[in-house]
Amino acid sequence: MGQDRRNRSPAKDADLASLPPLARGGRARALPIPAPDASEGKPFWETKTLEEMTAAEWEALCDGCGRCCLNKLEDEDTGEIVLTRLACALLDIGQCRCSDYPNRFAKMPDCINLTPEKVRSLTWLPATCGYRRVKEGRGLAWWHPLVSGDPETVHQAGISVRGFARSEKGVKEHNFVRYIISDFDDA
Ligand code: SF4
Ligand code: SF4
Repeated sequence: MGQDRRNRSPAKDADLASLPPLARGGRARALPIPAPDASEGKPFWETKTLEEMTAAEWEALCDGCGRCCLNKLEDEDTGEIVLTRLACALLDIGQCRCSDYPNRFAKMPDCINLTPEKVRSLTWLPATCGYRRVKEGRGLAWWHPLVSGDPETVHQAGISVRGFARSEKGVKEHNFVRYIISDFDDA
C-alpha cells in the first residue's frame, strides 16, 4: 500500500476516530484446486494474466487468508488508509472463510467484488494476496494452497487472520479506531 503506518502518533489515530469504515471485502471461501496447465508444463498462475483465467482458476487464486475482510479506515483529508483487526461480521475467523459467500453482496453491500480491474486499482490489498502477487509478477508463495496442496499452510505460515482478528460484531463504529493495527509487511 506504499505507506508505513507502524509509527502512527496517538494524535493521528485520534483524528481517525470519526471516520467511517472505508471498505472490506474480497474473497474468502473454500476453493477447488484446478490442475496445472499440462500443455505448458507450468501452472496457470504462471502462464495466464488475471483476465485470461477461468472462473475456477480465479477463485482458486485466493489463498483464504481473510486479510481483505478486515475493516479499513480512511482519513478523509489525506486519503490515508489504515487497517484494523476487526473482521467483517460475516467472516468465520476460525476458518478464514466468508460464512455466506453466495449472498455476501446482499448481506454486506460494502463487500467488494474483486475483478482484475479492481486488483489493479485497489491500493490496500495485502502484499501477500494471491491476486496482487500475480499482478505484480511475483508468483505464489510456498504457503499458498495452490502450491502446497494444503489449505492449512496459509494459517501455519501466519499469513491468515485466524490468530488475531476479532469480529466487528458489537463494536461501535466510533470505536473502530481502537483496533488499528500495523499494516502487513510480509509478502
Ligand atoms: S461479506 Fe464479509 S466476510 Fe464475506 S467476503 Fe465480503 S468482506 Fe469477506
Ligand atoms: S488472497 Fe487476497 S482476496 Fe483472498 S482472502 Fe487473502 S487478501 Fe483476500
